Amino acid sequence: MAVVEVRGLTKRFDGTGAAAVDGIDIASRDGEFLVLLGPSGCGKTTLLRMIGGLEPPTAGDILIGGRVVTDLPPRARQIAMVFQSYALYPHMSVKDNIAFPLKAANMPKAAQQERIAWAAGILGIDHLLGRKPRQLSGGQRQRVALARALVREPNVFLLDEPLSNLDAQRRASARDELQQFQRRVATTTIYVTHDQVEAMGMGDRIAVMEQGHIRQLGPPQEIYDEPADTFVATFVGSPPMNLVPDPAAGDLLGFRPEHFQPAAADGVNGAARFPFHVHRMEYLGAERLLYGEVGEAKVIARFPVTVPIPVEPGATAEFAVPLRHLKRFDAKTGLRRPARSVS
Ligand code: ATP
Repeated sequence: MAVVEVRGLTKRFDGTGAAAVDGIDIASRDGEFLVLLGPSGCGKTTLLRMIGGLEPPTAGDILIGGRVVTDLPPRARQIAMVFQSYALYPHMSVKDNIAFPLKAANMPKAAQQERIAWAAGILGIDHLLGRKPRQLSGGQRQRVALARALVREPNVFLLDEPLSNLDAQRRASARDELQQFQRRVATTTIYVTHDQVEAMGMGDRIAVMEQGHIRQLGPPQEIYDEPADTFVATFVGSPPMNLVPDPAAGDLLGFRPEHFQPAAADGVNGAARFPFHVHRMEYLGAERLLYGEVGEAKVIARFPVTVPIPVEPGATAEFAVPLRHLKRFDAKTGLRRPARSVS
């Protein structure tokens, strides 16, 4: 196990304008599941590849377990990487795929067998050892790739969208398995994804990235409840946080769809009220979404289906947000205002 730390880490690709990774400082905790979350092109993979030693940084340092590894080759970093493609050898059996790094390290045969049996046991693939990769499902391939990474007993796992090849249903169970596996081995894991559901469900902490920067680092609930800026507020959460201009203050008021509720007739103390003009209702099984506008701003409200529809499409009703759920952002910079300035 080890802490991974990067300091002022920067990557500029030749001939491209902005830095792909722009002076990032971040440190994992020992044994944690740290997710790098962000839209396509924000620099997640480049950051992960630099940590893995596959991409030389333009500037900055990488430390693993307190040791500077910036200029060391991947094999000297005691890390294991699993990519979206899994990169299994198609002509080799599952067992030989898992044994590959052990053979390369000249491990004695008996020790190899022991290590393979151990990893196969942890991942529940003992019965698949004789098969070829093409005879496996996507989820099984993923487990083989993890087993191959695990036998080397790395200090750190680096995972780049390892579930993106799976269909939605398999993905949910693979997510669960992967998380259980990570808890069991308690190895520091850095996990890249653009899928916020995956990030929220799996991460001990999430680093939200945009344009080569980390916009916020924190546990999932903190990221959701207390977004640091309008980018995080709208990237995390589905549907995203609503943002309504407050012309008087030149700010943006942010609130989650589930906190936007019909205002009580007798008036709600400690709530901000808005006229909500509703265009459309969407039924999603367990909940309903109401799409509409507050002034010029598009706004969405979310209700459990057990609640009667508060307003029909085409109508306008007064809605309210409890003040503790109202977040204020600087309209120019997008940055969150301190909580006390919310009124
Ligand atoms: P995705 O989710 O699409 O994989 P990402 O967040 O992982 O995106 P990166 O792959 O790290 O993003 O790319 C960050 C930026 O660096 C992008 O603008 C990309 O075009 C650029 N980039 C990545 N690799 C190279 C390369 N080898 N040469 C030039 N530019 C590159």
